[in-house]
Amino acid sequence: MRRTVTINACPYCEGHGYVQLLLGGSETCYGCQGTGSEPEEDDKH
Ligand SMILES: [Zn+2]
Repeated sequence: MRRTVTINACPYCEGHGYVQLLLGGSETCYGCQGTGSEPEEDDKH
């Protein structure tokens, strides 16, 4: 089976590592801490 290029891309920043603010500018993504990938190892909820 072939895997897509996307590897658990963060749903908040779509893998960018940061999010665009409505008021302008950007901020480090709170979902992935700027890594751009979804932290699946963390078991905290
Ligand atoms: Zn993110």
